[in-house]
Amino acid sequence: MNKKENKKHIYIYIGLSITLIFLLILIALYLINSKNNDEEKNISYTDLIKQINEQAVEKVEMTVGSTSIKVKLKGEEESKNAIIPSTQAFIELIQTKAEEGNEINVEQKQQNIFLKIPSMLFSLLPTLMMVALFVLIYKVQGLGDKGKIYDGEGNVSNVKFEDIAGLEEEKTELIEIVDFLKEPKRFYDMGAKIPKGILLYGKPGTGKTLIAKAIAGEAGVPFISMSGSEFIEMFAGLGASRVRKLFEKARKISPCIVFIDEIDAIGSRRTSQSGAESENNQTLNQLLVEMDGFEKNETIIVLAATNRPEMLDKALLRPGRFDRQITIAPPDIKGREEILKIHSKEKKFSKDVTLKSIAEDTAGFTGAELANILNEAAIIATINKHTEIEQIDIEEAVKKVTVGLQKNSRVVSQKEKNLTAYHEAGHAIVGKFLQTGEELKEISIIPRGPAGGYTMYKTNEDKFYKSKTEMEEKLIGLLGGRAAEKLALDDISTGARNDIQVATQIAKDMVTVYGMSDTLGPISLELEENLTIFGQNIEDIIGEEIKKLIDAAYQKAQIILNKNIDKLHILANLLLKEETITKEQFEKIFID
Ligand code: ATP
Repeated sequence: MNKKENKKHIYIYIGLSITLIFLLILIALYLINSKNNDEEKNISYTDLIKQINEQAVEKVEMTVGSTSIKVKLKGEEESKNAIIPSTQAFIELIQTKAEEGNEINVEQKQQNIFLKIPSMLFSLLPTLMMVALFVLIYKVQGLGDKGKIYDGEGNVSNVKFEDIAGLEEEKTELIEIVDFLKEPKRFYDMGAKIPKGILLYGKPGTGKTLIAKAIAGEAGVPFISMSGSEFIEMFAGLGASRVRKLFEKARKISPCIVFIDEIDAIGSRRTSQSGAESENNQTLNQLLVEMDGFEKNETIIVLAATNRPEMLDKALLRPGRFDRQITIAPPDIKGREEILKIHSKEKKFSKDVTLKSIAEDTAGFTGAELANILNEAAIIATINKHTEIEQIDIEEAVKKVTVGLQKNSRVVSQKEKNLTAYHEAGHAIVGKFLQTGEELKEISIIPRGPAGGYTMYKTNEDKFYKSKTEMEEKLIGLLGGRAAEKLALDDISTGARNDIQVATQIAKDMVTVYGMSDTLGPISLELEENLTIFGQNIEDIIGEEIKKLIDAAYQKAQIILNKNIDKLHILANLLLKEETITKEQFEKIFID
């Protein structure tokens, strides 16, 4: 069952529950109303006694087990209704009256069951409402119908390895899994053990889900998937039962692939704490139990994805569980070109567009981001009424994805423009004097996304490692904007917020992750448990080290700008005039 059908069912349940509640309310209203209508046919108990004393009552009709009676008065056609406090006491009263010579005809009747139904329903109303509510929650939670919680209800995937660009080594590594799923017997006969679980590490959008689907597609087996966060939604205590149900289902359709996205949501390190933590622990324990319990004839491969491998519980990585780990890195230039090729299949491009040049401009982009850029480019080309996607549409799409949408309608005051011009000019000039700085592409003071302006660089080199010098210079470049504001305008603004945020994170990583601080040396302080090993004031030292790096970078940015203050003014003024300037225009300032 797919998500759409699940939704449809939920709506049906909600509809039915509302109808039921509505019907019960109608019945209740009817009962109240009919009671009111009967008012003129009613007689109060005091009146009844009065009438009996006055010998005006001809006949009394009583129903077994009911305190409601019918009274016929002498000379009246129709009977009246009365409620008596106690049947026993009333009968005694009538007997006394009879002894006194005031005979009243008493008729006893069995109760009519049909007449009782509305009042029974009415008294059942709260219970029925509770049941309806429970059924609704049960269904929404996906407990009742197992099929509901699955994304792909065991459908055979139609994704193939050829749909995945790049990732050649990873694909080669996974071919044996495909062979195993196709012919498990051959492997078993040979006594070979195939991993039960494979962990895919990688940034969001690098194609982890795509790979899992492609394995299923190549092997022609069903693919069922669920996200780690779905196991622990809304109500506590459901995680473990959901894991059990997922594997129950997998066993039924085996051989198959089970894909668990965001496994860190349930697979993070177990603790002994209570509450949410223990809920997490139970879910993880259940997953481990399920994976340990696979029988020989159950050919199930569990693939799980995460972008936070350091968070995972070690128990998950033990042999017989996720004992194979594959890192899915963002594509290199060749990979990016191939991904672009796959996603450009159904799009029309003008002759001036080369996928290679887009690949060059998009270092560090994931497959999902590249697919998104081509889609954005197609939308922009349509809006611009181009017959084909042109280079400028793609450039705009890259900017839209990286910096945000151009905000032409945003009203910017002259003062703000001035500030942005100095801020961006500061980044560009400082960048020019950094040895490891990236090549400038474009500077602009036209607002885009959340930014008032931007300085774009060409990152055409795929780097695996970054040196300390590079990271220090990155800090200088980032703080160049703030330094220029202070120097030229003797004031600072909120425009540097993002720069400061990024710079602080880089400095923190340098100290705690990469062991680049002179005082602390090469130790990893990423994990909280490591912090406690090094004593109580380690956090103070980390703070001091981060501050040292930031202060040094800010000072260097100021020195560069002080030396080039005339260029800073020229560039800021040019930006105010032109709004966007290219690398060539920028370089010209330094030649003149
Ligand atoms: P997340 O961690 O957010 O779930 P993911 O790593 O699982 O992300 P996918 O959902 O597999 O990423 O990728 C998203 C989309 O990006 C794919 O549907 C596909 O269009 C595109 N994509 C990613 N990598 C590749 C690739 N190597 N080749 C072709 N397309 C790719």
